[in-house]
Amino acid sequence: TRHLVLILGDQLNLDNPALEDFDSTQDAIVMAEVSHEATQVWSHKARIVLFLSAMRHFYAALVHQYPSGLQGSYLKLDEHSFATLKDAWAQQISLLKPQKVIVCEPGEYRLEQDLIALCKEMNAELVVRDDTHFMCSKADFIHWAKVNKQLRMEFFYRKMRQKYDLLMQGDEPVGGAWNYDAENRKTFGKSGPQNVPAAPQVSIDGLTQTVIDTVETYFPNHPGSLKNFIWPVTRAAALQFLEDFIKNKLAGFGDHQDAMWQSANSSQSPYLWHSLLSTSLNLKLLNPREVIAAAVAAYHQQQLPLASVEGFIRQILGWREFIRGVYWLDMPKMGEANHYKHTCTLPSWYWTGDTHMNCMKQTINDTMQHGYAHHIQRLMVTGMFGILAELNPREVEAWYLAVYVDAVEWVELPNVAGMALYANGGRFTSKPYIASGAYIKRMSNYCSHCKYKPELKTGETACPTTTLYWNFLIKHYDTFSRNPRTTLMTKNVDRFSEADKAEVQARAQYVLQQINAI
Ligand code: FAD
Ligand code: SF4
Repeated sequence: TRHLVLILGDQLNLDNPALEDFDSTQDAIVMAEVSHEATQVWSHKARIVLFLSAMRHFYAALVHQYPSGLQGSYLKLDEHSFATLKDAWAQQISLLKPQKVIVCEPGEYRLEQDLIALCKEMNAELVVRDDTHFMCSKADFIHWAKVNKQLRMEFFYRKMRQKYDLLMQGDEPVGGAWNYDAENRKTFGKSGPQNVPAAPQVSIDGLTQTVIDTVETYFPNHPGSLKNFIWPVTRAAALQFLEDFIKNKLAGFGDHQDAMWQSANSSQSPYLWHSLLSTSLNLKLLNPREVIAAAVAAYHQQQLPLASVEGFIRQILGWREFIRGVYWLDMPKMGEANHYKHTCTLPSWYWTGDTHMNCMKQTINDTMQHGYAHHIQRLMVTGMFGILAELNPREVEAWYLAVYVDAVEWVELPNVAGMALYANGGRFTSKPYIASGAYIKRMSNYCSHCKYKPELKTGETACPTTTLYWNFLIKHYDTFSRNPRTTLMTKNVDRFSEADKAEVQARAQYVLQQINAI
């Protein structure tokens, strides 16, 4: 064999650079499903089904692409005994003795390291090709980070807008401002969201059903439900999701991006105006350029609100690319960071939703039912509780990697360690994202269905988030009062008497000790 091409589970694009010079007469492909990828964290069943089904569909598309025959192996979970990808690759390398092993940059540091080590051990030449799916290469990001000492998404995003000439009028942003974030934070008011677009309708094909059965057999005790599985497993389905989003949701995307709602009406889509495109992007069933192009085209053709279109493009061209950049810039350090030296164990109800804190219950229930929760639920509910309750970042990170269908480490880890937990000491955020229950009350209706009171910081019915917020501010008073972005928060602590502080701290101690029962 001339080249052995390795295709990983999140590299399901036919324009994968590893396939660039593929010659089916002398090259071979290997794809492998291994149990370790589903069990290294306790993966949600829907996440396992998504990956395995999308991989099987992709391999079928590859076979179709080469009607005269494809040299290759697709190793199904139930048809081999390799526990890890490294074991599966080793067997293929010794079997085929390729001149070169070719792969597109893996999305995970650990896998890249395994691959480099393996090829060295086996004396095989490894070629790692740049991942052209992303709009900013690793090298370009490293260069940008060197020139811009302050790693801030906003500055990176402006550069990307200029580079790709997106929503620009000459050198200036269309509409005069780079960012309409302030318009993206509306609440649903008392009456709740009106005319929520329906979730896309999806039918499960035979292949996905087989995978569902396999997952129920092999991982019966894993968390999460498969009843609501809607995720695209083919490029065609991903394109339908994109079309649905542009047609039915993009216009309303901006306004209520940050709002959350517990609906009494079970037929209302839990996804609100969110795009549901993260899985398709992360598996590379969609290219970010085509997603952005579709949004820009709709903006021009349908005169959609600029705040919605800009807000959406910022997520993909800005956040998604920036997050990938900082992951590779800071690994492996990022995976070890624990700025506050937090060591508390993840409460058991993170896996069940069995808590009296209604915001956590709702977000975790959504997560377990759908493998999905939106950005603010992840950042300001389950994530924020993680920092305030001083949870060990490793345990929180493992939870996020396990429970979301779109979780792959390059995007999960910076969001959890960097954004939600401030575990890396604010490498790319100007302050920790913390707030009291008042924020959750403003942005949702969760508090009106809760036994706790968001405005109370002490006493039996005090909101645990509020108690822990004030406790956190008292504990870190010095650093918070020195940071111009957080100094205002500490002004409120200045009004507390010593007795007030002691009361908050005692209640916080109680909450942390009783954490599995709150
Ligand atoms: P929309 O709200 O419709 O946003 C559009 C797209 O923008 C998303 O599909 C996504 O590709 C991109 N995007 C938006 N925010 C971010 C962000 N912060 N980082 C990177 N891309 C972004 N996203 C993942 O894809 N995988 C994860 O494992 C993941 N873990 C997260 C953990 C935490 C603590 C937080 C705060 C965010 C995390 N995100 C993750 C980002 C974001 O929450 C999801 O991308 C989004 O909720 C997916 O739903 P959607 O496609 O409907 O997104
Ligand atoms: Fe969450 Fe506190 Fe509101 Fe209850 S009162 S829903 S715990 S923020």
